[in-house]
Order: sequence, then C-alpha cells, then structure tokens
Amino acid sequence: MIRVATVAIGLLALAGCKQSDTYPNGVDQARIVEAANSSEEWLTHYGDWRNRQYSALEAIDRKNVGGLKLAWSMDMDTNRGVEATPIVADGIMYVTGSWSQVYAIDAQSGRRLWHYDPEVPGEYAGRGCCDVVNRGVALWGDKVLLGTFDGRLIAIHKKTGKPVWTQDTLIDRKRFSYTITGAPLVANGLVIIGNGGAELGARGYVTAYDIATGKQVWRFFTVPGDPSKPFESKAMAKAATTWTGKYWEGGGGGTVWDSMAYDPELDMVYLGVGNGTPWNRSVRSPNGGDNLFLSSIVALKRKSGEYVWHYQQVPGEEWDYTATQHLMLLDLQINGKIRKTIVQAPKNGFFYVLDRSNGELLSAKNFVPVTWTNGIDLKTGRPRMRDVRYETKPVDILPGPTGAHNWQPMAFLPKTGLVYIPSLELGPTKFETDRNYRFKSHSWNVAVDFKNFVYPESPEELSAIAKGLKGDLIAWDPVRQKERWRFKHRAPWNGGVLATASGLIFQGTSDGYLLAIDAVSGRELWRFFCQTGVMAAPISFRLAGTQYISVAVGWGGHYGLEWGPLALEATGGLPNKSRVLTFALDGKATLPAPEKWQGQLEPMVAIPPNQSNAMETEGRTLYARYCSACHGGAAISGGVLPDLRNISPEVYDGWDEIVLEGSRSTNGMGGFKSHIDRRQSRAIRAYVLSRAHRTWMDRPKN
Ligand code: CA
Repeated sequence: MIRVATVAIGLLALAGCKQSDTYPNGVDQARIVEAANSSEEWLTHYGDWRNRQYSALEAIDRKNVGGLKLAWSMDMDTNRGVEATPIVADGIMYVTGSWSQVYAIDAQSGRRLWHYDPEVPGEYAGRGCCDVVNRGVALWGDKVLLGTFDGRLIAIHKKTGKPVWTQDTLIDRKRFSYTITGAPLVANGLVIIGNGGAELGARGYVTAYDIATGKQVWRFFTVPGDPSKPFESKAMAKAATTWTGKYWEGGGGGTVWDSMAYDPELDMVYLGVGNGTPWNRSVRSPNGGDNLFLSSIVALKRKSGEYVWHYQQVPGEEWDYTATQHLMLLDLQINGKIRKTIVQAPKNGFFYVLDRSNGELLSAKNFVPVTWTNGIDLKTGRPRMRDVRYETKPVDILPGPTGAHNWQPMAFLPKTGLVYIPSLELGPTKFETDRNYRFKSHSWNVAVDFKNFVYPESPEELSAIAKGLKGDLIAWDPVRQKERWRFKHRAPWNGGVLATASGLIFQGTSDGYLLAIDAVSGRELWRFFCQTGVMAAPISFRLAGTQYISVAVGWGGHYGLEWGPLALEATGGLPNKSRVLTFALDGKATLPAPEKWQGQLEPMVAIPPNQSNAMETEGRTLYARYCSACHGGAAISGGVLPDLRNISPEVYDGWDEIVLEGSRSTNGMGGFKSHIDRRQSRAIRAYVLSRAHRTWMDRPKN
C-alpha cells in the first residue's frame, strides 16, 4: 500500500521524464497491480492484471475525439495477419507482427529501436490452422517474452533486442503440429505459455518457466495421456475417467492457445482451454464422456500448477467450441454482494459469469442466437443440449467453428459496468462424420467431412451469403446479462476493443477504419481510414503529458485467409498492410497513398484440352481440404496471400515442385507430398485453372 502512494507522487513529479528511473527493476507484479489505476502505460497483454482492455486516461474524450489525428506510423517488415496488442513501458512500445517478429519502438516518435526476427522456418506456416499470427509479447524485469510460431519461448533483453534464453516448449514435434500464437502470461516471476494445434492433432498443456533463469517450474496438461503410463497429475487421473476408447492417439486437443489470466490476490492462474482433437467425439472418445478439460476454464495454483477448480462449458465438445476466448477478472455486484468473478464470451455464444475463487457458475446467457442448447442449468452448470451430435446424421449448428466471438479482445468500462464484445454471426455450419477418417500427423484431424466446407462459387450465392454475415459490437451488461446497445458494422471479423475512462470505445473494423464510439449511447464519434482491415485491439498510454491511442493494423488470420471471397468483401477489396498506427490530439502525421489489391488478372494459362470435369471436381474437394484454409475458399484470396487464380506459366509448369516438394517453403508454402500424390496435385491445379477462367468470364464488366 505504501508503494502505491509513493509511485503516484513519483509519476506526477516525473511527468515527461524517463519513467525507468522510478522502476529500476522494470515491470514487476507490484507495478502491474498499480497500473490498473494509473493507466500511464500498457504493461500487460490486456492492459492490466484484470484483463479489462481499459485505460483510466481521460484527456481524449467525447468532446474532443473528433479532432484525433495520426501522430506516427511504422510499417512492419512482413505482410501477413496482425493480431498483436502492443505493450508500452518506460516510453517504449513492444509489438509483434506476423512470423513472431518483435519491434521495439520509441512510443512518442515512432522511431524503431530494434527488431527481432526469431526466424521461424517458412514451411511451418502449414502447421497452424489460421495464419502465422502472433498476439503479442509480455514484459517482466529486463526481459521481453515471446512465444514463436514454431513453439519456442524466448526471453529477449528489452534494451538490446537480443535473446537471453530460449526454451523449446513443445512435446512430440514429430506427431503433433503445435504452434504458439498467443501472448505469454507473466505471473509473479513466472511466465506461462500454452500453444495451438487442436485442428491438426495436439495434446494441450501449459508450461511455467522462471523468468530469471528460463528453467521450467511446472507443466499442466489439460487432457489425459495414454493411461498405460503414469498420469502427470491427480487432475489427469480424474479427467481420464471422462474419456473412452484410445483417445490419446490423436492427442485429445484442449490447447490453451489464447487467453489466460492471473489473480495476484488469490495467487491463481486461469486457463482458457480449447476444442478436442479430432473435433468429432464419436471418433475421439467413441463411448461418449465429458472429455475433461476440453472447452473449460481451469484454475491452477500459480506456484505449483496444481489444479484448483474447473468449469466445463460444453461437455463432450465436438463443434470447435473453444473456451480460449478473452478471460476477464471483474469484481461485480451480484444480488447485493461483491463477487470476485471471471467472465468470458466464448465461441459458443454464451456470456458466462463465474466466481473465480471457487468456479461456481453465477449466470450464463447467450449474446447471439444459438441452436446447440436450450440454456444453461445454473444448478448443475450443464447446458441443456439439443439434438446436435452428428455421429449418425449431419447437423446444422449455430454458432459455427469461427464462433460468436473469437480471439479479438473485448473491453470493460467500470463507469458503465458494460462489457463491449466484438461479436460474430456467421450463419450455421453443417457437421457430418468423415467415415474415412484416420489420424495423419501434420494434417487436419477433425474427422468431419469436408464436403460441407466447400465454398459456393457463384458470385450471386457469395454476395447473398456476405449480406447475412454480421460482426456487431455488442454493449453487454454482465450483471443483468442483457444487451444494452449494438453498433452494426459493415461486415464481420472486426478488431479487438479498448475502453477509456472518458467514456470512449475504440475498435478497428474489417473494412479499414478505426472508430471511436460513445460508450453510453453507442453512437459513432470519430473514424480514421487505416487503409487495411483491422483485427487487433487498440491500447492507450500517456507520455510527456500527451494521451495516445495505438493499434497494430493488418488483415488476415482465420477469417482473412480462409473465407477468401467473403473476407475480401468484408474489407471492401483492401489489401493487407501491416503497420502500427498511433494517434494523438495534436498528431501531424499522414499515411502514404493506399495500395490497391491486385485481385484477379486475365488468365495467363489456357485450359489444356485434356483437362476433364472429373479432374476439376476432384480438385475442388482436395482444394477445400488442403488449400482453402490459407489460399481462400473458392480459390479466391481474401487479400493477404497471392491469388492463385493469377497462375503464371512458370507456376503452372513448376506446380508439382511447389505443391508436392515445397520449393517455395521459405515463403510459407510447405510441400504436401506426405498428404497428396502427383495426380491429386494436378487435380488441384486443374480446379484452380478452371476457377481462373470462370471467374474471369463472370467478372463484373464496366
Ligand atoms: Ca479450434
């Protein structure tokens, strides 16, 4: 308590000076706790230890935000999806771009101080489901902590930009396709990191390391392993009773790929646990079972990693219903009592409020339409499931695997008591069991028939679908479990959210704007054209008496890549441009003229006479299975990767070397020869070429 007072006075006296003099040890737990009230800096992934995406700064307010201007911008070195929330401490911003690259920037001038490239091998791009993204670093002492796409945890010296220690966080690289895209969590001297990979085959776990030495302190598995070997914890022995069959062979899933939280008062760490591998429970755990801890929030003791409690949102999960989304620690007044809660709005469309000390479910209400349940029984905590299992029949389900809310951070504003959710409504998805499924390392292992994931191709059908897709910002009352207002965006897959004490909500949009919205009325007050789709969350900080708003912009990720034509529709045809933009009331910077997305060119290769319809049809299914996750549905790029329809004679002739042998692996295009043969590779080529000619003929003519 004494320390709080000292620091508050110190900050006033030091306004404009280098704050590092006040904090000789850099960022530590006391400084993170204090920052929840001062908001001079942005010290953790979600801004404070409560993960509120909230800034107490008030200089930029509802009256003057209309005059907010660009102060500086910094172009990144790579142009893939940007999902990172920057960290700002002692006047320096640390932000990540794609390929796990880190930039240290003078937060006042935008001057680059150092850039660190961990040199993730290009072919590793295919090991992830959803682009070579990174959601940011953590800061502690003199170290910047980075999780890399290929599974390393690296401590970088914050001044020199050079690695101090590196840990390989992965188990079983041969069998499973692990990646890291999430920001590490710092918790009183420990750094905790999970991973992604549950679509391709993975067994989920998190590992805690001592930040000073890099030594492993504990590891907590989220799903049980082979029961013929000793279980790693009591929790795993218990969890194993909820699984059936040879569940461990495919890994089981349950990866912790995004949100975690740390409560320093309870000294507890919270994990958001993902979906099962394979998705299909009738394959994964053939005699049923809840399959703990899939789709669960799990609380652990920080020091030991011992299990404390869990809450499973979807028992026996099989629709990619991850509970990995943004976890917030809010103290809410419920039935006249202040409760220490943890709240989450995961993919399944419900807003959950739990007591974070013991895991008791306090309330749960859907914030978008859902078809998988008739509601959550507050006594048992279990959902009243509808008949949506697809073991014997195909099932349409809402929300689909992209969710009602994905990784984009939401925000909490104490003054309104509202949580601002970047929601998604993308229509139903059809699940059907893949009867020919067998586990194959480094391939998609979902045991769901991909024929229902083949994108429609006609422009009319696509634009009809695009019209039905929503990505509204919802102002949600977490106590009354009620929508207060919603801001309708033009298209889905908009950015994360920031709330400021002055009553402003900042959010970027897929169609290239950063908006300021009135937190009370939901009215738009300001917009800036960012020239590219925005997915990441903005932050705020103060330096030398000036309040800044900052956001890393750039299009891509799961929706930006896979949803191809719809993703391009969402941006209004903008290309990806990876940049950091920083705004202030006295900003004087401008952006260079925007780039144009090249789109489709006139086909350069004629369709050979021996190319059959059968080949093209086979190629369409194979394309949906192996290619569309990155190159876009219906062979149309969403504005990030090159459009395959612009296939050149060189690429046409060298197709097998590229597709099978991986001759362009340094660009991120690994070889697929362990998945498909030469004939199949050529069927995909035939499909791409046929699409090039068909869409060129169908193009809108002026
Ligand atoms: Ca997933």
